[in-house]
This record gives sequence, structure tokens and C-alpha cells, in this order.
Amino acid sequence: MSVYTLLVDQKTLDTMADFYQDYTVKTPSHAKFQAKITGCTITAYNSKKVVFQGKNAEKEITLWQALQQPVKQMKTKQVPHLTHFDNFDCIGCDESGVGDYFGPLTAACVYVPKQQTDKLKQLGIMDSKQMTDEYICKIAPTIMKSCYHAITILPNEKYNQLQAKGINGHMMKALLHNQALQKLLNDQTFTFDYIIMDQFVNESTYYRYFKTLQISPITGLTFIPKAEGHSIAVAAASVLARYTYVKAMDKLASKYGKTLPKGASKTVDHFAAEIIHTHGESCLQIYAKVHFATTQKALELLK
Ligand code: MG
Repeated sequence: MSVYTLLVDQKTLDTMADFYQDYTVKTPSHAKFQAKITGCTITAYNSKKVVFQGKNAEKEITLWQALQQPVKQMKTKQVPHLTHFDNFDCIGCDESGVGDYFGPLTAACVYVPKQQTDKLKQLGIMDSKQMTDEYICKIAPTIMKSCYHAITILPNEKYNQLQAKGINGHMMKALLHNQALQKLLNDQTFTFDYIIMDQFVNESTYYRYFKTLQISPITGLTFIPKAEGHSIAVAAASVLARYTYVKAMDKLASKYGKTLPKGASKTVDHFAAEIIHTHGESCLQIYAKVHFATTQKALELLK
């Protein structure tokens, strides 16, 4: 099935809502509306991302591409129209495990030359947050086989040590991404146009972290908010980062003898309380990001 994504401006989004109003179906959570027409399902998100799926998706999206205003130039580096990154050879970077109490922080970078974008699009790759873990595990090996990539993992124990030293989550992400990029660029020889980072801090803050830590980073990155919607390379990186997280969680489950819940929720609070109760609080160091409020909540539950 063909899947295409378009980032639109507010005016176009409103026009779309009017245009498809007679074809709307039940709106999925996080979406503004969903409409079904012959051969195409259109899902519009409040983030102004619109996903077209189905055999007529390409035809349908071209209607709207023509209406788009040129996206204003990014301050940091001149970039072409955001949706056109896939016409270039790009390295995409993204991470996973950030909001999950249990399990490591993972980062991935993937090199996608422009000739390969169609193949990846055919896999239905999009933002990993919109895909099930099951589907991610199905397609990740194909991405790994077809694209140069590098992955880094920050295990919980190490994460907690760095956190205790005052290195915050954003700094850890920056370090992990930089390590992954170094690995990729050292191991392989290829030419590329852009290194696109799914932006978690602005460019100056990103490079300042390395100055603070006295490390010289890979430079020349292009920082794009919600980049997985604008670049197939970033979307592929988000899939590999999530895949690595899911696999790491499987390993932790065999170590603990029970599946640990993902995310952060009441279930996670209770699970953490169970670990503390059975094995002591220090045991969390190897399974969890202990600075999360979850730890306090779990301790409260045991009072
Ligand atoms: Mg991200």
C-alpha cells in the first residue's frame, strides 16, 4: 500500500477539512480528521501532518502539494522545501526510550540515498510512534539489510550514573547520536547531502553540550522539528531506534523473568513498587531511569 506524508500550513489544513467533510469517518486519537475516498484514506493531524494511504494516494497528494506555500528558510542552514528531503541523499537520526521508565535510551542513524526512498516508503515506514512494535520488529531487519546504519544504546546503569553527574537527558541523547554518527561515518564510505536530526534541542544548545563535555562532535547537522514526517531517513532511524529499544526490553524481561511495561503510567508505578518490594530500591538501577517521578510514586505506594 502506498503511504505519503505532507506537511501543510494551517490554511491548507482548514481547506482540507472543508474539502473532505462529506467523507469523514471516525477520527483516530491524535488526529484532526480522517476521510475515506475511493482508493485513498486521508488522515490529518493537529501537527499539520497529513497522511495519504492507498492506491490513489499519490494522485490525491499532488492536488495539495500545488497549494503549499514554500516553507520559510531555516535559520541554521539553507534547506530546500521540507517535504523534498527525500530527493536528496540523507542520513537521518532519531532516538527511542526517552519517555520510558524501564529500559535504555537508544539512538540510530540511517543513510538513505535518494534512489532508495521509494523502496522504504513501500514498507510503510513512518514515525515509529504511529506504528505498532510488532510492525516495527517486522520491517526493521529489512531496513538494516538495505541501508547503512549505526545504533547506540545507553544501558540504564550508565544512564543513571551520567544523570547523577548532572548530565541531563538531552545531553545524553546528543552524545548517543554523535557516537552513532561517528560509527556510521567511520565504518562506511558514501556521499550525502544532509544529516537530519529530529530536533530535540536547537542547534546552538546541541553544540554547546559538546563544548561543555570537551568533545568534538560531528558538525553540519540540519535540525528539523518532527523530522520523521519530513524525511524517510529520519523515519527509518526512528524505526531502528525503537526496534533496538524493544529488543533491549526483551533482554531485560529474560533477566528479570517477567515482561517490564513500556512507557510511564500507573502500571509502571506499580511494577516499580513490586521491584523495590522484592529486590530493593537499588535493583531499579539496572532496569529503570531512576530520576523519573515514577521512583517516588513507587516508594509512596509501599508506604
Ligand atoms: Mg525523535
